[in-house]
Amino acid sequence: MFWIPLFIFIVGVCIGSFLNVAIFRTHEDESIVRGRSKCQTCEVSIGAQDLVPILSYLRLKGRCRSCKSVVSWQYPVVELATGMLFLLMYLTIDWNIPYNLGLQDMMLLLFRNWVFVSYLVLIFVYDLRHMLILDRFTIPAMIFAVLANLWLGVIPGWSVLVGGLVIGGFFWLQFTISKGVWVGGGDIRMGALMGFMLGIEQGFVALFLAYVLGALIGVGLLVSKVVTRKTQVPFGTFLAVATVLTLIIGQPMIDWYLGFFL
Ligand SMILES: [Zn+2]
Repeated sequence: MFWIPLFIFIVGVCIGSFLNVAIFRTHEDESIVRGRSKCQTCEVSIGAQDLVPILSYLRLKGRCRSCKSVVSWQYPVVELATGMLFLLMYLTIDWNIPYNLGLQDMMLLLFRNWVFVSYLVLIFVYDLRHMLILDRFTIPAMIFAVLANLWLGVIPGWSVLVGGLVIGGFFWLQFTISKGVWVGGGDIRMGALMGFMLGIEQGFVALFLAYVLGALIGVGLLVSKVVTRKTQVPFGTFLAVATVLTLIIGQPMIDWYLGFFL
């Protein structure tokens, strides 16, 4: 059954292509659904044959057909990454569930994960590029996460609600104590989102992973002199990556950790 993974990958790539447009047009304050895509340099409308995700970029060697200006590598990278994440969610769907689910619930869980991943890619790329976690991404994602989790019931309802409040509250506390210096207001919403998506247990796993990733990559960048101590860090990117990782290996990590005590 080779065609199912391939189909899922292609769907993911197409969603990635839509996410690129959403990121770009959100920043430019344009409508996401209306209007044709234009070259950002010469403003010539891009024809359908040049809008095929990844392939058009490769065929045109990363340049605009009419003015030959360089097209951001963000486009093919986000498309490829979203395709791979969609595929990865499909391949690992049974790692993270506490008991045997029926086929229908598995498919709903997979769909939930694809929506989660799409929002997390949006938040990751936008924070990396613009150092902002936008409410217009986190708030709809929170509403979806709460409704989907309460409806699916794979994570206990109390865990979902407490997770959002506790992890959001954790960032709110830092925000209040430091008067907004250590973390931004967007981090509070991002923390709440992590809790609503993952529940309290896996939410803590994700928080832990985010700090480990942040420390490792932060030290790496300091040592290689890419950044200085004063460089602002887009912490939302680490929170987003950690949340995706937890969607894949959260339960194996909890089992492994508990294995030391039981
Ligand atoms: Zn152009």
